[in-house]
Formats: sequence, structure tokens, C-alpha cells
Amino acid sequence: MNWPQVSGRVADERQALLVFYRPLLNPPTPQGDWFMLVGAPPGPREACCVQFSSPAAMFATNAPPLPVNRDRIRPAIQALQDHLVEWRRGIHQRPELGFKEWLTADFIAAQLTAWGIDHQVKMAETGVVAVIEGTRPGPVLGIRADMDALPIQEANAVPYRSQHDGVMHACGHDGHVAIALGTAHYLAHHRDRFAGTVKLIFQPAEEGPGGAKPMIEAGVLTNPDVDAMIGLHLWNNLPLGTVGVRSGPLMAATESFTCTVQGKGGHGALPHQTVDSIVVGAQIVMALQTIVARNIDPTKSAVVTVGKFHAGSAHNVIADTATLTGTVRYFDPDYADYFAPRLEQIVAGICQSHGASYTFDYVASYPPVVNDPAMTDLVRSVALSVVETPAGVVPDCHTMGAEDMAFFLQAVPGCYFFLGAANTDKALAYPHHHPRFDFDETALGLGVEMFVRCVEAYSGA
Ligand SMILES: [Zn+2]
Ligand SMILES: [Zn+2]
Repeated sequence: MNWPQVSGRVADERQALLVFYRPLLNPPTPQGDWFMLVGAPPGPREACCVQFSSPAAMFATNAPPLPVNRDRIRPAIQALQDHLVEWRRGIHQRPELGFKEWLTADFIAAQLTAWGIDHQVKMAETGVVAVIEGTRPGPVLGIRADMDALPIQEANAVPYRSQHDGVMHACGHDGHVAIALGTAHYLAHHRDRFAGTVKLIFQPAEEGPGGAKPMIEAGVLTNPDVDAMIGLHLWNNLPLGTVGVRSGPLMAATESFTCTVQGKGGHGALPHQTVDSIVVGAQIVMALQTIVARNIDPTKSAVVTVGKFHAGSAHNVIADTATLTGTVRYFDPDYADYFAPRLEQIVAGICQSHGASYTFDYVASYPPVVNDPAMTDLVRSVALSVVETPAGVVPDCHTMGAEDMAFFLQAVPGCYFFLGAANTDKALAYPHHHPRFDFDETALGLGVEMFVRCVEAYSGA
């Protein structure tokens, strides 16, 4: 990314904070033609101009936070902010891996009990489901929050750092629980503000092996039947004060494969007596690259990565076997059944041509996260009313990362969105899954306001 400092005049103070415009500079550069003005001082002013390749890329990294207008967060939710931080930090200190979120689930259940909210525990092991009814009949909206942490040793020196060795909330799921609890607290105390029912779904094991599917199988979307779902991810790829949302595919499918090539080992100097599994494996690695390059519609995105290639034991020994493992990502649900047979076809063809045999295992973990157009419109219009400027709603935001929220959105229409949480001014911009990941807790109140307004908008209140 380029950061040329260029001057431009800004007429309107509001525009000075964030402006998109097509190039006024000459000539347009080959890297792209979208620009953002930042950091202009009050009064007639010069602005510095930062260049990005696309609107979404403006927020990809290093972008400063947008101002958060607290007037757009209702007083009852502002009053929760200290509690949101306290809940989040408490959970952050006691992180738990997937399907072992017992302390987290106990804490959630205790809060729900204290607020008189009906709930069920131990759904799909550690899952918790709360049901809050409005004072009038109406549709059922599900809100999902994942609860699990990662097997990472925290490197932050904050007072609320993880007390569980080797386990850390490095993805923000501690914040998701706090936001969902804040939403539950507000809704339970303002049942006259919405029609219908809200189901808060606290889900285990998003980071793997996946808790959404077992919860659906355990009946979380029935009794009462959920009509639509929403969910959010605190997102350090976006600055605080922004919401990223997109109709259609938002996050990629994730699938994985393991392939073992069985050759015939022997002396490194006598290759004619062997079938070299490294040579066969290397050809497989290269040939797999042609799937994205030559089989996938070039207007669609996909990835085939071989992440591990293990073979051999000595410089003068031809390896008997080679093991390759990798990941496949794609956005378009139409490719759901495409990759497994295509990969195996390539593996089989190359092995056959060399006289090797193989084993091939393929696991389709999560499908793509696909947002429903109508629910996306609802979330987008809510976001426009919560974040400070129209530019705070980041268009066309999507990532090759994966999420098992995908299973909920396969089952019912819904929308998953990103809530900007990075703040470079406070050095809170480490990427997700980094041992120094942390986020700006101002986003917690924004998240509750987003969810509550979505509930009100969806129920027609
Ligand atoms: Zn994660
Ligand atoms: Zn996550």
C-alpha cells in the first residue's frame, strides 16, 4: 500500500474527516484511484491524502479510527459500557478452548439468571441459549455469539491478561459474549421496545471443530422457530467506528485435504530402481495450482494452498512416501462439491503416471458465510444510523477467513457483519490470532447498539 502525502483543499469540516473521491490528482496512478482524506485541522485547511487500491482496502490496515458519536448510543446502553468492559475482561482472563467453555457458560448463565431471562444450558456441550420475548407477538430473531478462545500464549502485559497458560482470547470472542450479554440485559429491561422474540445463541468451538452445526442439530433454531439470524465479529482489519457488511458471500468456505503418495524407496544414486515420492509430490503441488488458475471462473475467488509437505530422511535416500496437507477456500457455494473430486483427480493422474499409489482424505469444514440481501439491507441501514458517517459503513467487505456462522445462514436468512475494533492511536491493531491481539473496547457499546437496533428494525418496532 502506498502512502503518498498530497495536498488538497477541503471545504467542509465534516468531509475533512473522511472523504472518498475519484482522482482529482493527475495523473491517476496504476495502483488505483480511490482516496481518503484524513486528519485535516479545523478551519480552511490542507488535508493529507492517502491512496488505496479500493474502498475496502482503505480500511484493510493502518487506517485511523473514525470518531464514535456517543449520542447515537442510547443512554441505557452507554450506562452498560463499564459492565461490558468488566464482563469482557473477566472472560478474557479465563479463556477456554472449544467445547470446554464451562466457566464462560456458567458466567453467562449466572448473568441471565440474575436478570430473570429464560435460558437453556449445555446445548451441544457448553452452548447457552437465552429467549427474550417482547411485549407484543412478532418474528423470532436469533443473535449468535461465539465463546471459545485459541491455543495461544498471550503476549500482552495488560492487567486483564489471560490467566490460563497457553490459552488466549485472540480473536475477540470474549467481546462477542460481552456484547450479547449487554444486548440481553437491554432487551430484558425494555421488552416494550420490540415485538416478537429474540434468541441469544452462545455458541462453543467456532475456532474448531465447530459448534454451530451441533447446536442446530440439537434444535437451537426450533421451539420457537428462528426466522432470521444476525451476528457480528469484532474486526481489527477495520478501524473503530466502522461496520463492514456485504450481501452474498462475506467469508470463505474452508476445506482441507491430506494426501499420502506411496512410492518405492531406494538409494539416492539408483533412481531407476525406485518411485520417487518427492518428485511425484512436487508435481502434485504444482498441478494443484492449476485448479484456481485454469478451472475456476476467473471472476470468482478461490485458494488452494499446500501448507505441509513431509518426505524423506537423508540426502542419499529416495523417499518411500510423501505426505501433503493443505487448505481450500472459496466464496461461491456453487463450488461446494467441486474441489474434493478435482484434487483427487489430479493426485490420481500424477500418481498413476509415475507408478505410485496414494491415499486421499478431504474434509469440508465450514461452507461460505452467505448473507441474505434483505437482512443485509436491514443491517446496513442500522449501521448507517449508528456509525458517524456514511463512509463508516465499509462497502463490499469480505475475507478469505472462515466462520461456522455459515451453518446458521444456510438454515435461515441472515446477516453476519464486521464491527471495526482497531485503534492505531492506542496501538490496538494487532491482527486476529496474534499473541498481542487486543481491540478498542469502545466497540462493545457500538455492538450492543447495533444488535438492539437490528432487533427493533426486524420486529418492525
Ligand atoms: Zn478466530
Ligand atoms: Zn473469530
